[in-house]
Amino acid sequence: MPQPPPPPPPSDWRQRLTTLWREASASEHVDGHNARHFRARQILAVVGLLPMVFMGNLVGTVTIAATFWGQMPSWSLCLWVVLAVLSLVLLDRGMRGLLTGTAKPVATRRDLHIVSSSVATFAVIWAAIPVMIFPTTDHLGQLLISSVLVGMMCGGGLILSSIPIAACAYVLVMAGATAMALQRSIYVNNVSILGLLGIWAVTVMGVTMANARMFFSRLRTEAEADRQRQLIDLLLRDFEEHASDWLWEISHTGHFRHVSARLAQSFGLSAHQLLKHSFTDLVSTMLPAESTEAAAAFDQLQSHLRLGRPFRDLELPVQVDGELRWWSLMAKPLFDDRGRAAGWRGVGADVTQGRIARDEMARLANVDALTGLANRHCFSLELARVCASVETSQRGCALLFVDLDNFKGINDSLGHALGDQLLRSVAARIKACVAPGDLLARLGGDEFALLSWQAGDEASAAELGDRLLAALATPCQLEDVRVEVRASIGMALAPRDGISPQTLLQSADLALYAAKAGGRNTHRFFVPVMGESARARARLQQEMGVALADEQFAVHYQPQVSTRTGQVVGFEALVRWQHQERGLIGPNEFIPVAEETGQIVPLGTWVLRQACKVAMQWPGSIRVAVNLSAVQFRSHSVVDIVEQALADSGLPPERLELEITESALIDDHEGAQATLAALRSRGIRVALDDFGTGYSSLAYLRRFPMDQLKIDGMFVRSLDSDPDAQAVVTAIISLAKALRLETTAEGVELPEQMVMLRALGCDQVQGFWMARPMPANEIAAFLARMEPARENGLY
Ligand code: C2E
Ligand code: CA
Ligand code: CA
Repeated sequence: MPQPPPPPPPSDWRQRLTTLWREASASEHVDGHNARHFRARQILAVVGLLPMVFMGNLVGTVTIAATFWGQMPSWSLCLWVVLAVLSLVLLDRGMRGLLTGTAKPVATRRDLHIVSSSVATFAVIWAAIPVMIFPTTDHLGQLLISSVLVGMMCGGGLILSSIPIAACAYVLVMAGATAMALQRSIYVNNVSILGLLGIWAVTVMGVTMANARMFFSRLRTEAEADRQRQLIDLLLRDFEEHASDWLWEISHTGHFRHVSARLAQSFGLSAHQLLKHSFTDLVSTMLPAESTEAAAAFDQLQSHLRLGRPFRDLELPVQVDGELRWWSLMAKPLFDDRGRAAGWRGVGADVTQGRIARDEMARLANVDALTGLANRHCFSLELARVCASVETSQRGCALLFVDLDNFKGINDSLGHALGDQLLRSVAARIKACVAPGDLLARLGGDEFALLSWQAGDEASAAELGDRLLAALATPCQLEDVRVEVRASIGMALAPRDGISPQTLLQSADLALYAAKAGGRNTHRFFVPVMGESARARARLQQEMGVALADEQFAVHYQPQVSTRTGQVVGFEALVRWQHQERGLIGPNEFIPVAEETGQIVPLGTWVLRQACKVAMQWPGSIRVAVNLSAVQFRSHSVVDIVEQALADSGLPPERLELEITESALIDDHEGAQATLAALRSRGIRVALDDFGTGYSSLAYLRRFPMDQLKIDGMFVRSLDSDPDAQAVVTAIISLAKALRLETTAEGVELPEQMVMLRALGCDQVQGFWMARPMPANEIAAFLARMEPARENGLY
């Protein structure tokens, strides 16, 4: 960029003049390649004024020729007029001819010199006749000539001021000619007039220089503006060529002002098509059919354009070449000099990739990856929406919680891959029962939730529940394994059982809890009493803390009798709660609550220590069996606690049997195996409780070494009536024998049951037929009573 010359020190007038000259002329040193164009502009500025000059000259020469007609030979006057006019024409032609380059003419320094000398020649020609006439004419004639000469000098100087060198040459010739003429006059006081003439000439040249300076300053400003415009053009072009964005500019009629290749490419249309239609008309034909989002975005665009409001980040789906694309548009309104709307200018960007990524993220945020169903997040949003709309429409909606009863066991024994497959197949089966408009979600694990408008009343919800259970009833075929799936369903109806998401969830949850407690593989509706029992549970939780400190718990013992000898081989320790207000509470009521809160650990420890201590008072061959809940079994301190109880009581480890259920073994195989091994290596016996009710898989028995298998009372109770129960018990006993496990049958209430069990090869029996669980202080008497009965063959 050309730098303006530094300001000169004010004292040096020569330097001032040089600076003035530099500022009023073009030089490569200051203006670079623009100097050539500037010179051409200097010449053009003069050329532009030549018609006026032509007229002025014609008038001047003709006036002088007419005035002095007769005083000079007429041929010489005619020749002068012709020469003056002709020289001007030649000057015009010559000056135009000097300029080269059509788009942006250029001229050299030499060209300027040619112009200057041509101008000086013209001045000489022009001044010749007046100067010759001057001494011969009267003072009126002289006045006319001198005023014409001075006028020519001033006017010409100003006209030529864009080329100061030419202007100076011209002024000097004219001033010289005038001086010469005056010199030869006899009327005038030469000195004063010549002095005056000199001052004018200098003034005219000074004004000329000042004009030239202004002229150059304008040229330089224009050149700088031009340079900047070119730079901006360049940057914009680069932007259009390389960025994914495109610039758009429309007039107040809505038509594109210009169409870049990028713009045409973005619209998938030719420049011709783009220029033919208005922007909004074009966009309207590109909107994807039946897209409400597109329609809304387009409405927004139109409203912005109508109201003249600038906008940004307006996302618009469009169809380009049959493909769905997303544009993000921004624009600002344009105004003309008078502040009237003059269209819009903005940037468009193709944001399809980002949009796809965002949609995918949103989808993933709402979808359960495993089953493709809605996830918990999506379900929560929908539930909130449903609750709000139930409230306003008073239309009923059902919320169903579906929970698989035996999923953990299946997942554990068959592996997670098959577990996942099972969940997918369960999801598909439930989905097949879901009406359009209803929402099925997987909340996590084996928990599914269904929001159904179709089942808004109790009858249709019950019917849906039945359908779901039926859909799950057929076993699932997972690769080469057939798996029985069972589910419990809790159902709550809005608005009946709750109108807020929270209460509705709570109601369905309580109903599910009740379904599980009610034997599983069933569905239950929420009833307010469930809320009460939940509150009762909460109360129980609170009271249990105090009860433990107050020693309100007691351990009762139920004998286990050998089928072979009829002898008591052990007692199972069963805890009871002597509640201050409610009397004796059974463990089935409070153990689950204690397990939920973790209070089972201190309670279980207390039972264990109590049982070991009591067992020390029994004859040496009698064992004590203590129930360990899964929560206790999984706690890290279980082995230490057991060891401590044995050490403190002095009970030999072989006399302690720990009863665990399969639920203690699932989830953490390695941990369970390590705990079992640690206990058994110390000589402690382990029994698997309630066998036949849970997952009852052979895999557990093989993987986890045990000593005893306890056949659940459920099978024993129906032994005589149900041949299936007999088959199950027979199978369990033979299985146990194969695995070298002892068997104990629970819940023996009748002598026939005992006879059958003995015949089937069961090792021990336990049940009301022998004795109900009894307090520790009744055991001695019981054992004393037992001996004669055994001898009489009663057991
Ligand atoms: P369980 O381990 O299966 O205990 C056997 C249950 O069957 C006992 O119920 C017992 O009273 C009952 N029972 C025994 N013989 C018969 C019979 O002939 N007919 C019938 N109908 N029932 C019989 P209880 O004492 O109510 O205990 C229930 C459950 O509570 C136990 O089932 C056990 O799982 C749990 N439990 C009891 N005490 C403890 C404990 O100290 N710790 C843990 N973790 N759980 C315990
Ligand atoms: Ca037990
Ligand atoms: Ca049991």
